[in-house]
Amino acid sequence: MITKAELEKENAKLQRRVANLEKQLARHKSGAATSNLKPTQVHQADQEVLQTSQDWFRELAEFMDEVLWVYDFDTRHITYINPAYERVWGRTVASLHQDPNTFLNSIHPNDRALVDQATIQQIHGERSAAEYRIIRPDGTMRWIWGRGFPVIVEGKCQRIIGIASDITAQKQAEADLLAHQENMHALLENTDASIWSIDTQYRMIVGNRLYHRNVSASIGRELKPGENVLALDLPQAAITEWRGYYDRALRGETFSIETTTRFAEHPQTIEYHFNPIKTDADQVVGVTVLGRNITERKHAEALHAKLIERLELATRSAQMGIWDWDIQNNVLVWDERMYELYGRSKDKFGGAYEAWLNGVHPDDRAASDEVSVRARAGEIEYDTEYRVIWPDGSVHWLKANGDVFRDEHGTPIRMIGVNYDITERKQMDLVLRESEARYRLIAQNSSDVIWVMDPLTGKFTYVSPSVEKLRGYTPEEVMAQPASEALTPESFKVVGDLLSQNLPAFIAQGSGTRSFVTEVDQPRKDGSIVKTEVTTTYVFNEQGQVEIIGVSRDITERKHADESLRESEHRYHELVQNVNSAIIRWKRDGTITFFNEFAQSFFGYAPEEIIGKHVSILLPPTDSAGGDLAQLVDNVANHPEQFMNNVNENIRRNGQRVWMTWTNRALYDENGRPDEILAVGSDVTELKHLQEELNHTIEDLQRANKELEQFAYVASHDLQEPLRAVAGMVQLLQKRYAGQLDAQADEYIHHAVDAAARMRTLINDLLTFSRVGTRGKPFEPTDMNGVLDLTLRDLNVTIQENHAIITHDDLPTVMGDSTQLGQLVQNLIGNAIKFHGDQPPQIHIGVQALPDAWQFAVRDNGIGIKPENFERIFIVFQRLHTRRAYPGTGIGLALCKKIVERHGGNIWVESEIRQGSTFYFTLPKA
Ligand code: ADP
Repeated sequence: MITKAELEKENAKLQRRVANLEKQLARHKSGAATSNLKPTQVHQADQEVLQTSQDWFRELAEFMDEVLWVYDFDTRHITYINPAYERVWGRTVASLHQDPNTFLNSIHPNDRALVDQATIQQIHGERSAAEYRIIRPDGTMRWIWGRGFPVIVEGKCQRIIGIASDITAQKQAEADLLAHQENMHALLENTDASIWSIDTQYRMIVGNRLYHRNVSASIGRELKPGENVLALDLPQAAITEWRGYYDRALRGETFSIETTTRFAEHPQTIEYHFNPIKTDADQVVGVTVLGRNITERKHAEALHAKLIERLELATRSAQMGIWDWDIQNNVLVWDERMYELYGRSKDKFGGAYEAWLNGVHPDDRAASDEVSVRARAGEIEYDTEYRVIWPDGSVHWLKANGDVFRDEHGTPIRMIGVNYDITERKQMDLVLRESEARYRLIAQNSSDVIWVMDPLTGKFTYVSPSVEKLRGYTPEEVMAQPASEALTPESFKVVGDLLSQNLPAFIAQGSGTRSFVTEVDQPRKDGSIVKTEVTTTYVFNEQGQVEIIGVSRDITERKHADESLRESEHRYHELVQNVNSAIIRWKRDGTITFFNEFAQSFFGYAPEEIIGKHVSILLPPTDSAGGDLAQLVDNVANHPEQFMNNVNENIRRNGQRVWMTWTNRALYDENGRPDEILAVGSDVTELKHLQEELNHTIEDLQRANKELEQFAYVASHDLQEPLRAVAGMVQLLQKRYAGQLDAQADEYIHHAVDAAARMRTLINDLLTFSRVGTRGKPFEPTDMNGVLDLTLRDLNVTIQENHAIITHDDLPTVMGDSTQLGQLVQNLIGNAIKFHGDQPPQIHIGVQALPDAWQFAVRDNGIGIKPENFERIFIVFQRLHTRRAYPGTGIGLALCKKIVERHGGNIWVESEIRQGSTFYFTLPKA
């Protein structure tokens, strides 16, 4: 760039040359004018001079930088133009001569008027000058400084000599300078620094706007250039201080200082740079000062330092590891802590991205890589969590943060970040999540409705799904309503009063929890009411705000149960008081705690006379002495089958003794210990008397029976002897005198023999019968098969005669009297043969095992027995037929019954007329 000074120099040179030229021309002109030569002479001389001067001129013109031209008004042509034209205008001289208009046409349209104006001035004989632009054929533009010099001959402008200089470069330089100056100015005025300069006498040379503003703010007026900046109305200390600075700079030192000033109440830190102004000869002629308010930067720096400090502290205390990854060279550097975090030793770490990724848990590797890739791509912050596996196999959670650094093209070149262990937090999270999930699960599945309410908004923030069952509303519906709508207006009033009473106190308390239980009525969606018991708890949530957590339980059922309990209690009371039994309760220590109305009237005590007394008051003196009552309570509790019922002699208030049956039941205390007896008693005195009478009768009867048996035995035994004599005599009489007396006598003798024989049978049977009880053998194991065999042998003739078929099961061995069991079987089989029907008798002796006994059955196909006779036939002498139809004494079955009963069994018959009979008897199992 050409400096302005150079330009000016050039211009001056040019001016001088032009001036010279003009001088020469003028001299030439005046010489001509002052000579007395005739015009022709003059003309000739002129011509010569002219010629000479023209030659000289031409020579000069040929070498000039400026364009020089001569315009002739006579010919109206440019008569001369120097070669510079070609260089400046970019056109040939020939082309101009060919078309003179091209000269003017090349002028920039906007500048033509200007040029025209100048031309007009020249025509009028005035010199003129103009700055204008031309457009060259190649389209480029040049700035021209054109000047015209009219040549006046005889008062008339004959020619114009013009000079056109190419001032494009100068113009450009000027424009540049202007722009530069403007920029400088703008810079100085708009900078946040105050700038000023002083001379060696401390006089202000120049100051920018900010400087002036600051000065006015402190001295209250404008500072004028030339004023001594140390003579201002400022504190002496400040003046001295500043003089020191200025002097330092004036001695040639460049330096900076930092001071704190109070502007607008806040301390401000200002940084001042002092620069000496030097001449080319290094002489100091002044000082430039630049002041900058660096308060904010200071703050930022302080903050930065503090942050760094905090970061370092955090890094150290959080046991953070720091990593630094040179991305382009893939070099990953870890600090000591990083190795600990990855459980690795230095020599085992590759120091590259892949080495890091290898330490990451396989399940987290892809995601971790992706986060890194995306952070480098600038899509996300590098902030992630992942698990690492230590060489010992243990798993640890790490959190990683980092920053990506980029070059000027935005290519990531470096990442720096931290890692720290969050295993514990993760585990806590897990535990928390699990316990939260558990609570949620409980809430979600509880039949009670669990809810959370915000007392500020009066709305539920959580309601468990069971609310739909309780009230018919979905949790969403409930949460959309004000909480007050969950209660009937009456209940809301009760609960509202309660809340306004105790909630403020709880809030004031600031911590802890508080619970209370209320019974409320809640409206259902269908308009009905449900009774609930609400356990309300105040808690402070994590944000320290009060929340109300509640559990609502449907107590409709319980209410019903309560009612029915009351009802049943009432009924029970009625029953207990009005029943015709004595109901009393007494404790382990014997204290009577309850005595119903019947007991009161029965025993003759008023409640106050008996409640609290010892139960022995109800017992005869002999009984009450002994007996451990506590033991009795335990016995009743533990062995009710044995101790539940007892019969006691009791005593009334009037001393009268009564017999009572008692049913005892143990009652338990809250620890489950049998503690009390509930006894229900009935008066059985009369029954007792009856029983005693009955016992006497039975005893009498037994005695009579024994005597009778004894008598029967004695009688039949003693009758045998005279009977045998009678029978013997009658038989002798028949043998001797049969057919010798008349027929009448024969018949009488026959009857007597017959009767004697019958009598003998009868007496024998009777003797057998009476002997069952008195003359029995002791019991011993008896094989019933043997018994049956003997019997059949005895009955052999009868069996043959009647063509009887007798079958039997295999019979067991029983405990018994073999003789009597033989009599039993013989009688039953004998009857079965005797009472046969049209068919030959078919008899089967069967046996069946019962739990405790053998049940024998003697089945026949005989005549059968009518049901009304089933009992009768077992009574002695009872027969259903005449002696003529079926012989017999009627003792057989009575004997059977007696034998079976002596063995502890039963005998009975089942029969159908003309079909047959089955006689059953049982014998106990051995
Ligand atoms: P007796 O055989 O001497 O008549 P029992 O005491 O043996 O006396 O029998 C009493 C009565 O029971 C018999 O008279 C008879 O009428 C009836 N009876 C006994 N056994 C049978 C039987 N097997 N079939 C039909 N009737 C019988």
